[in-house]
Amino acid sequence: MKDATIAARAAGHIDRATGGVVPALHLSTTFARDDAYAPIASDHVYLRDDNDAARLAERIVAQLEQARAALLFPSGMAAIAAALRPVGNGGTLVLQRGIYWGTTQWVRAFCDRRGVRLVEVGTDEMTRAVEQERPEVIFVETPSNPWLETVDIAALARVTRATGSLLVVDSTAATPILTKPLVLGADIVVHAATKALNGHSDVLAGVLATNAPESEHWRSIVTERHDGGAVIGPFEAWLLVRGMRTLTLRVAHSSASAQRIASWLAAHEAVARVLYPGLPEHTGHEIAARQMSGGFGGLLSIRLQGGGEAARRFCGRLRLFHRATSLGGVESLAEHRHEIEPAVPPDLVRLSIGIEDLDDLVADLEQALS
Ligand SMILES: *Cc1c(COP(=O)(O)O)cnc(C)c1O
Repeated sequence: MKDATIAARAAGHIDRATGGVVPALHLSTTFARDDAYAPIASDHVYLRDDNDAARLAERIVAQLEQARAALLFPSGMAAIAAALRPVGNGGTLVLQRGIYWGTTQWVRAFCDRRGVRLVEVGTDEMTRAVEQERPEVIFVETPSNPWLETVDIAALARVTRATGSLLVVDSTAATPILTKPLVLGADIVVHAATKALNGHSDVLAGVLATNAPESEHWRSIVTERHDGGAVIGPFEAWLLVRGMRTLTLRVAHSSASAQRIASWLAAHEAVARVLYPGLPEHTGHEIAARQMSGGFGGLLSIRLQGGGEAARRFCGRLRLFHRATSLGGVESLAEHRHEIEPAVPPDLVRLSIGIEDLDDLVADLEQALS
């Protein structure tokens, strides 16, 4: 089945007890046994193990990614940490430079603590780094946040297969609708489900998916999540299932608007540069056009003429875009990334395009730039 069908029907779920087309929300942490001490429902003993809402959300993500298994976590960072923790002490990890700052920070501290050799590389140095270092894992993000750089997943996967390295791809900005990293050869795909998967800025969640659930690495992730208890609550998972029903519509709409906004901004005299993989002049456009279909996502960054002061003034004048971090929600957001991440230049503003009326969004940008 196609993505829109999988998402809209929540992978065909029907509530067994009532026939409800929407799953029941069970908040119970424990489940009673009968007088012979058998569980009343054989697959329900304790919530850490038996969370129906989480299992359903995982099934939907697995189908969308054409994966054999998916695991939900309480945040995107919890999912990323879970994917990388199996790297052994004294191992080697290659990390893309200029990606989500939370990931970079966590990986640096983790490698430091565990004596893991960390090699940070730009997108054009990846192949050489993998061939030279033969790392256990290479972690990339495409398109990257906030630089919108692209990584050729299929080309990199050919290299990692030869070196026996595991390729982990953070595909948050692409969503499973626009790119399917596992189909392109990645070993594990990561999503901060907090962003477009849920789409309504009201759930913190992360997810991993793979086509090699029997691998040692994946089995270690499964065991650690279970035994370490890094599980999501049923209400969050239930909201995520609800949010994903409209995923294809939201992604199509915000991608189309972002494309129009990026082109419009690229021609604006107050804007020095627009970073968006959908623009033909973007350095990663050719790769993006090959591995993304249906659009280039709702995330873009701009660099303003007039530097940091102009960028802050622009943010301050916005009336419709909220000044807030995060991305992938129905509401458009603008972030002056430098405030949180000093390495990002002060003239850069990251925009997450929502599903509001395009003319209203352009009018807001226009008045804030003028
Ligand atoms: C937000 C984000 C994360 C972290 O997700 P949380 O749910 O906030 O922990 C990871 N990667 C990318 C690309 C993100 O945008």
